[in-house]
Amino acid sequence: MSTSGKTPSNPAPSKKLHQRQGSFFRRLDVRLPWLKLVAVLVIGAIAIFDLLDFTISKINDPEDHVKTAPMSRHVKITERTLEGKKLVALTFDDGPSPETTPKLLDLLTEKDAPATFFMLGSMARTNPDIVKRIRKEHHEVASHTMYHQNLIRIPDDATRADINEAKAVFNDIINHGPSYTRPPYGNINTTITDAVGTPIILWSVDTEDWRSKNTDAIINTTMSEVYDGAIILMHDIYPTSVEAVPALIDTLRQNGYELATISELATAKNLTLIPGVIYYDLLP
Ligand SMILES: [Zn+2]
Repeated sequence: MSTSGKTPSNPAPSKKLHQRQGSFFRRLDVRLPWLKLVAVLVIGAIAIFDLLDFTISKINDPEDHVKTAPMSRHVKITERTLEGKKLVALTFDDGPSPETTPKLLDLLTEKDAPATFFMLGSMARTNPDIVKRIRKEHHEVASHTMYHQNLIRIPDDATRADINEAKAVFNDIINHGPSYTRPPYGNINTTITDAVGTPIILWSVDTEDWRSKNTDAIINTTMSEVYDGAIILMHDIYPTSVEAVPALIDTLRQNGYELATISELATAKNLTLIPGVIYYDLLP
């Protein structure tokens, strides 16, 4: 507004323009106190709005921030949402697969849901970036042994070698051994319990996802068997299993369940999991 009347670039302003400019500034002089008042009111209003907004966002802070920051997801689930909820652990075996696991991770992030991955050392070794992503996105890294052998049918030395090779693979990729072990087929002997060095986590709800390859069947099987503290078995190497996950999570939540990793579930149930001990579910 103030620059429009100045026109300093005009070398010879006409008298008429001078008069117009003069009368403009005279009007401006008269109006200046009012303009100041309007400016003060506008700035004041903006300041009050800012203050209100700041106060409101402070009140909503924890919820909003966690929602927009996937990395903080488990802070939210552990410290806020798990309390008083029925809890289940979603677990995925036989991966990581470059064809299906990244899609599953996307869906889990979308649903703000954690999972525990029982990975084969052989698959982890060829897909280290997926293992790193699983850990970075706060899911749990666990071992399904190295080559999916039926360990109770091979010599003890071979059993120990398989388990130790898998441990070394995870150590190489994430500088951390697997948190838990799930021997293939759930077959266990004392050679295995002595060698794993982690709690052994089996399952109490078998979705039979590999058999049905069908979302409704996976959901129906789960919902007919699930209970607070249950461990749900799925396989992330089947596209049909991955596709079923969002609807499965929604159905579990509609029925009062919340998802937790094995560690979160153990903590919530006040359990200290012991290496070499077999767990089918996690109950207080
Ligand atoms: Zn398996």
